[in-house]
Amino acid sequence: MKKRLAVLGSTGSIGRQTLDVVRMHPDQFEVVALSVGCDADGLIAQAKQFSPRYVGISKGKNVSFLKEALDSNTQIIAGEDAPSQLAMLEDIDVVVNGVSGIAGMRPLISALKTGKSVALANKESIVCGHHIVEEAKKYGGRILPVDSEQSAIFQCLAMGREQDVDKLLLTASGGPFRLYSMEALSKVTPAEALKHPTWNMGKKITIDSATLFNKGLEVMEASYLFDVSGERIEVVIHPQSIVHSMVAFRDGTVAAQMSLPDMRLAIQYALTYPERIESPAGCLDFTAHPPLEFFAPDRKKFPALSLAYSALEEGHSLPVAYNGADEAAVELFFEGKIGFLQIADCVEYAMAHIDRLPCTTEEEIFHVDAEARRLVLEHSGK
Ligand code: MG
Repeated sequence: MKKRLAVLGSTGSIGRQTLDVVRMHPDQFEVVALSVGCDADGLIAQAKQFSPRYVGISKGKNVSFLKEALDSNTQIIAGEDAPSQLAMLEDIDVVVNGVSGIAGMRPLISALKTGKSVALANKESIVCGHHIVEEAKKYGGRILPVDSEQSAIFQCLAMGREQDVDKLLLTASGGPFRLYSMEALSKVTPAEALKHPTWNMGKKITIDSATLFNKGLEVMEASYLFDVSGERIEVVIHPQSIVHSMVAFRDGTVAAQMSLPDMRLAIQYALTYPERIESPAGCLDFTAHPPLEFFAPDRKKFPALSLAYSALEEGHSLPVAYNGADEAAVELFFEGKIGFLQIADCVEYAMAHIDRLPCTTEEEIFHVDAEARRLVLEHSGK
């Protein structure tokens, strides 16, 4: 029987690559629902190709436009909670959550509460909402990570028993400015930062890869997803992006997941788990590949990592503030209002001044998120 999918954030990078996987395996998957933020044109084009029973649009000004363009059998759900409603539908087996930002939290909770598997690309929902997510998991749903690092760890953990895990080794490409001096980093422009060499990703995550904020978020995400404390998570710079992360066991064995860098492989594994089927990544030829290198990260040039470890250690408001402040600061960077190095300064300021709340409810999380963004504006004087 085909797996029935809801693809949330279907016109974003994860959504499009998920649909690529579906295109390659039409015998395995059926797209039942698609949802977007506001890209009605993109949604229509995808709906014509995949004929989903449902489509959702969160910023719903274009409903009449959608009605005209789509088949009359397609049900349209509009409004902020459209992705959550789709995530709860009965005729869906796997929800692919590629919604970006903290907006991805509600659909994750809805899917888990209705006992579904969630192929999760959205980091924010775990970093900010892990308490709520843990509660929601009690209803029987499960999370299958789509992020390449978390997918790698998930796969490597299968090599041994949980109690025998020594540490998680998260790899990072190091971004395009790994070898820049502080002086050169201070002059990096948004255009320069968007030329990321390895992965096919959205704009915000590309900046986060260059600052290592993305890795900071992944350290927290890995800690919450796999229940491993911060001091047992290490970041290793690996510019070739062939090893997607590793798990070290207490006997000294290190399991690594390797492949050519192609997000579709991690997406596909989340959809077919525990099975493996042919993928577009192709087989890695070790003899043809340049040497694989590994370095310790430079925490002075990239303070995002140390900030993430302190956020994880204190918990509660701090991971939420880290995430919200970074989003706000990256926006200011895009607008040319702050420099590359000030992104971390803004986050540090927000973390220092944020209200300390338990962050076990949505209200508290959204409050801290908004407050962190306000603190960034305050700090940058914008
Ligand atoms: Mg990643």
